[in-house]
Amino acid sequence: METKSLTCVVCPQGCAIEAHTEGGRIISISGNKCKRGESYARTELTDPRRTLTTTMRVEGGALVSVKTKGTVPKDAMLDCMKAINAAETKAPVEIGDVLIRNILGLGVDIVATSRVKGV
Ligand code: SF4
Repeated sequence: METKSLTCVVCPQGCAIEAHTEGGRIISISGNKCKRGESYARTELTDPRRTLTTTMRVEGGALVSVKTKGTVPKDAMLDCMKAINAAETKAPVEIGDVLIRNILGLGVDIVATSRVKGV
């Protein structure tokens, strides 16, 4: 049996969760104070996902802060960063504008989280 220690990040309590697995199968989950922690641990063990926040270049030299609208698989984070770093958008940019639609075919858009005025 294998034991994996996780810290639940769903709420500020940050429960220390222990998950026991055997042959890749989850046998038990403990330490969570609520069901959301169990769900978090199951997802973290089977399909870990993250929200990505970074910046994107704007034509003319400015940067706009962006994030994924939803989560992407943890193992796709680096490729998403590369795709965002290779992209460039034009001002003006408004908060919520979709700057990359369906990044890498993952079904998640990259949206602006700051404004950039036009010239
Ligand atoms: S298990 Fe529940 S109470 Fe504990 S950190 Fe996660 S969401 Fe919060």
